[in-house]
Amino acid sequence: MNVLAIGAHGDDLESFCGGTLALCAQRGDAVTMCVVTDGRGRPKGDPDYIAAIRHKEAAASAALIGAELAWLAMPDGAVVADKNTCRPFVELIRRVKPELIITHPPEDYHPDHTAVSRLVIESVQLARTANFAAELPPHRGAVAVYFMESERGIGFLPEEYVDISAVFQVKLQMLRCHRSQFMPPTEPYDPSFVMPTDNQHPFMRYAYAMSSFRGFQADVAYAETFRAWRSAGRVLTKRVLP
Ligand SMILES: [Zn+2]
Repeated sequence: MNVLAIGAHGDDLESFCGGTLALCAQRGDAVTMCVVTDGRGRPKGDPDYIAAIRHKEAAASAALIGAELAWLAMPDGAVVADKNTCRPFVELIRRVKPELIITHPPEDYHPDHTAVSRLVIESVQLARTANFAAELPPHRGAVAVYFMESERGIGFLPEEYVDISAVFQVKLQMLRCHRSQFMPPTEPYDPSFVMPTDNQHPFMRYAYAMSSFRGFQADVAYAETFRAWRSAGRVLTKRVLP
C-alpha cells in the first residue's frame, strides 16, 4: 500500500511515527515522508545553508527505511492553513495516491503542526474533487487518515497502538540523522559537533520516554500511538496501520 506521512518539521515524523513508518517499509509499503517546512530557523547560520543541511538530514533519515522524501520547503514557523497553501498538498496526495496518511493532530502545540493538520484534512478532500484545479487528476480511492501523537503526548488520547519494539533502534537511528537539531539552537552550526549520548539530549529522552510509556500501556516494550480521523471517505474496513 502507499503510505504518506506529513510532518511540519524535519524530525517530527521520526519522533512521532518513525517506528511505524519503518514497519510499513518492512511489510513492503511504498512510504513517502513529507517535510513541510525548510527548517531554516535552527541552529543559527545562513538560512539557505541551514535549510540545505536540514534537507540532507531528512533525506538521510528517509533513506534508512527506503522511503521517498517530499520536501515542500515552506517557511519554518509561518505555515498558513488556507486554500492557496492546500495546492502542494493536493498535488502530493494525487501523486502518491495513499491509502494511509499520517499527520499531526489538530490540537498539537505548535502553530505549524496545527496548520499542517488542517491543511492535510482539507487537502484529502480537495484531492478527490474534480473541480479543484491541479496538474494531476483526482485521487478517488479511500484514504484512512491517522493523527500521530501530540508533542509529549499532552492531551492526546490514543485509539490505536503499534508495537515498534522490533524497529525501535531504527527509529533512534532516524532521529540521529538530524544532527543539527542536537546542537544548541542559539549557537552557530558547527559541522564538527560531537553528538551527545542518548540520555543527554531531550530528543532521545523523548523517544525513550514516550515509546516506553505507550509500550507499557500495551504490554510491549515500545509503541507509537494514533487516533483516526473519522469522516466520509476516511473509514476503511481493514486495519491499515502495521
Ligand atoms: Zn515540529
